[in-house]
Amino acid sequence: MRRYGLLGDPVSHSLSPVMFRAAFDHLGLGAVYETIRVPAGHSAGLAEAMRRLAETGGGNVTVPHKEQAARIADRLLPAGQAAGACNCFWLDGDGRLTGDNTDVDGFLASVRELAGFAMEGARVLLLGAGGGARAVALACAGDGASWIEVRNREPTRARSLIEALGLETVARARRLSAPVEGTFDLVVNATPLGMAPDDPLPLDLSTLSVAYAVDLVYGRDGTRWTGHARALGITALDGLPMLVHQGVLCLERWLGGADLGPGLRERMLSALRLPGGSRPASDA
Ligand code: NAP
Repeated sequence: MRRYGLLGDPVSHSLSPVMFRAAFDHLGLGAVYETIRVPAGHSAGLAEAMRRLAETGGGNVTVPHKEQAARIADRLLPAGQAAGACNCFWLDGDGRLTGDNTDVDGFLASVRELAGFAMEGARVLLLGAGGGARAVALACAGDGASWIEVRNREPTRARSLIEALGLETVARARRLSAPVEGTFDLVVNATPLGMAPDDPLPLDLSTLSVAYAVDLVYGRDGTRWTGHARALGITALDGLPMLVHQGVLCLERWLGGADLGPGLRERMLSALRLPGGSRPASDA
């Protein structure tokens, strides 16, 4: 029996088990997916859990361990290397613990679902400067965005993100609460705002000139922020498509590039959109 799992803290509200169990079922694979709580600072425990899971199948890493997991991996694929963060790991043919960051391509695949949107030359307003924002910034810059404004409660963290990714010529840092100036093509929420029912909106879009919005937070019927965006005529997407796209990329890595056939993504997405299967949650 292959074993896969998610390492992080917290993991109890993760939707990854629902999504991957639906995938294993669809693929007819006798495999289990479990969540394993690894408290912050337990680097030795994280390394041991990664190797144990990798030997039986593979796994995912979530907050707060993505950067530490990148340091633990024997080898990182280019997106993991560029992001300095690993959310997916497995053993390669030589038994090396290998890591990647599937959030980068998962985000790009999800924005391709925004009818009429083109990243080439786009001006992007990015809210947040954590791990998710890092993957989004890399994806946008790599896919031809002409300008990225990174906003965070504490702008020094936004500046660090820009410097760490070498984006100084195409990006600038701003405080989250500062007035928005200029026009943007795409606004992305990469803060957890919206996960709790009484959270404020990450940004009021009513005075903004923007055509597309993507919320990394997700919910069965979208999020309050995607609802707010759509009410203003902005084309909006919540984080479920990204979660599923990055999950398919994980499966491709774990199963050694096997042809996963048609219908997999739809099966994973519909499992997440089932009542009770999906709620705003934190993982990827
Ligand atoms: P993270 O590394 O902990 O970063 C969180 C970011 O949000 C930081 O910039 C933080 O700013 C900001 N933030 C936190 N609480 C805030 C608040 N109350 N008000 C304003 N800003 C706040 O987390 P992450 O991994 O980037 O994840 C962020 C969100 O994206 C989570 O909801 C996660 O589930 C989601 N996500 C979804 C996917 C997907 O596949 N859909 C993938 C990755 C992440 P400070 O520096 O000021 O603390």
